[in-house]
Amino acid sequence: MCRLSGMGVPDRRHAPGSLTGKGVLSMIEKRQFYVNGAWVDPVAPSDHKVIDPSTEDPCAVISLGGQADTDAAVAAARAAFPGWMATPPAERLALLEKLYGIYKARAEDMAQAISREMGAPIDLSRQAQVGAGLGNMKGFLKAGENFDFIRPLGEHAPNDRIILEPVGVVGMITPWNWPMNQITLKVGAAMVAGCTMVLKPSEESPLSAMLFAEMIDEAGFPPGVFNLVNGDGAGVGSQMSAHGDIDMISFTGSSRAGRLISRTAADSLKRVSLELGGKGANLIFADADEKAVKRGVLHCMNNSGQSCNAPTRMLVERSIYDETVEAAAEMAGKIAVGPSNEEGRHIGPVVNETQFDKIQDLIQTGIDEGARLVAGGTGRPEGFNRGYFVKPTVFADVSNDMTIAREEIFGPVLSIIPFDGEADGIEIANDTPYGLTNYVQTQDGARANRVARALRSGMVEMNGQPRGLGAPFGGMKQSGHGREGGAWGIEDFLEVKAVSGWTEGA
Ligand code: NAD
Repeated sequence: MCRLSGMGVPDRRHAPGSLTGKGVLSMIEKRQFYVNGAWVDPVAPSDHKVIDPSTEDPCAVISLGGQADTDAAVAAARAAFPGWMATPPAERLALLEKLYGIYKARAEDMAQAISREMGAPIDLSRQAQVGAGLGNMKGFLKAGENFDFIRPLGEHAPNDRIILEPVGVVGMITPWNWPMNQITLKVGAAMVAGCTMVLKPSEESPLSAMLFAEMIDEAGFPPGVFNLVNGDGAGVGSQMSAHGDIDMISFTGSSRAGRLISRTAADSLKRVSLELGGKGANLIFADADEKAVKRGVLHCMNNSGQSCNAPTRMLVERSIYDETVEAAAEMAGKIAVGPSNEEGRHIGPVVNETQFDKIQDLIQTGIDEGARLVAGGTGRPEGFNRGYFVKPTVFADVSNDMTIAREEIFGPVLSIIPFDGEADGIEIANDTPYGLTNYVQTQDGARANRVARALRSGMVEMNGQPRGLGAPFGGMKQSGHGREGGAWGIEDFLEVKAVSGWTEGA
């Protein structure tokens, strides 16, 4: 097993790919899976190249698993379940704490792996991408300390107890956009809950996941508690969704895949938890603070627009509409674009060719449907002739029924829509199939509270204040229905058992 540690990212300006067109010198080979506490070869190797989106060159080769690999991982998780479930919660928490320490110590390796596989600029990777994993694990450590797995029903029924017990073997399917955020949200919570697990990370971002598996191995979790099989959606993803020995699928990704997983999982009636896409509205009222527009543009473009909770529809009160459009366009024009290995506050490429093409098509659709382009547009930014780089793009005069207002673009593209008064703003914000995160900018506290209550989304962030540690992350409507993070995240992995006739102290 070759370790990822010390995996240096070559200077891409002199990368072998630019000389030979192959980029082979820096290729990492990592074909094994982590099953039952050991790195094992795939039953039948099936090579898959991981592409560095800054260069379009392959940077690693992994293997995609098949049914036999999935079965082996599920069998290991099933066998480990009774012992792990019976392990006292304090011991499970102590192992998670150890993992937290190892993750912290190897943060730079993790930052390099994420940056390389999915294109986040290295500073963003070091801070937000790696930091999200730390925050999530910390949140579960805190929530786990005071978590009651046995609770009284109420004074009216003194001998009743509600026992919260782990759901069993969990199949976890994760995306590439915030890879460690999503993996730690699932793995950390499931560990505390007492579940065993099989993780299938995105085939676009397997390196960070394998590094995380190395950390779990180093922390000394019992064999079979955590298993990792690489694969694609049609293969390992579907095999896990259909598997009779998996009790729950925890999925984060597109609404398209969420539907397919739900259908495949239906035959076995397993629990399915879904964290899907979004089309967040950012309501900017005339009395918003002076940094609201800048903040909104930067948030939308952060991670090259590849965040499910990005505020991609900026709804602006009519009286400040013209000046807001101008300020947003100016702000977007100042956002630098650059390769992932370069330090600084630029945005990187988008993850792959498919996403690049989809974003280009959607920008063109915005133009064709009559939205007014005020920044960016189609084509690569000046100075780039390769790499999946997209211009920070802003459309004004968007109406909420245009394609760019309805579809999740997953690129650095902002749509600005005017509104007339509170009720109109709320109506436009809620007129979407999604319901993940909405944003409100106003200095009128009463109005802010009213609007927060009226918005149909799992989260509302107001005036730039981030949600606190352990706040539940999740959506309504077609954004899914799972809740991740903190105590709610742990509860997502628990069954509720009602017991009567309980003897206290026995
Ligand atoms: P995706 O749905 O294409 O892939 C996500 C994962 O699902 C990958 O591991 C993929 O291999 C797997 N998969 C794909 N098809 C599958 C199938 N039929 N059966 C089983 N597994 C399958 O999404 P993506 O492009 O990797 O990620 C982007 C999407 O994720 C966006 O829509 C984004 O909004 C969403 N997302 C949501 C949240 C959230 O918490 N709500 C967070 C991050 C990303």
